[in-house]
Amino acid sequence: MKYLLPCQQCSEKTTIDMSQAGRQLTCRCGATLEVPSLRAIRTLETVADSDAKPPRRSWNLTRGLLFAAGLVLALAGLATAGLAGVNWVTATVPPAPVVNVGPALAELDTLSAVDTWDAWVDLRTNGLGPYMPTAKFMVETALERVFGIFVGGLVAVAVGLVIAAVAIVLPGQQAPRPRAQ
Ligand SMILES: [Zn+2]
Repeated sequence: MKYLLPCQQCSEKTTIDMSQAGRQLTCRCGATLEVPSLRAIRTLETVADSDAKPPRRSWNLTRGLLFAAGLVLALAGLATAGLAGVNWVTATVPPAPVVNVGPALAELDTLSAVDTWDAWVDLRTNGLGPYMPTAKFMVETALERVFGIFVGGLVAVAVGLVIAAVAIVLPGQQAPRPRAQ
């Protein structure tokens, strides 16, 4: 329990407790305050219980916005991760194409030296043609991207929840307390 000791000079009230009985304090105005005995302290005005408790955090606009932003981010991340996850699960990777080089090699064996040379010159001049990635490679590349989006979504969920949690824990502006007169 805390008590209010009024100053004789400025009538400002200083908060004291039992342990300060008999001591001298200095008021904000500079005057010396004599803290009365234990028994006399009990006759003093007490600090209301509601005042002694830590001030209730008010739910101000900044905190509300921060909380809402965190929640929106978490939900967006959840939706993104969910969509990517569904894509990931339902995706089918086509089998790798089977390339059978046997017939081509057998044909090469039948070529004469001149034909082989001509084939070589043709390949050297015209090349093998543009590289065509296989369907398997394309799908796997796409899935890597989907997985990245999935992880990004989860990160967004985590960040959003942290922001929302911070908004709850963050000390808000103290509501102005009525001054004891
Ligand atoms: Zn004073």
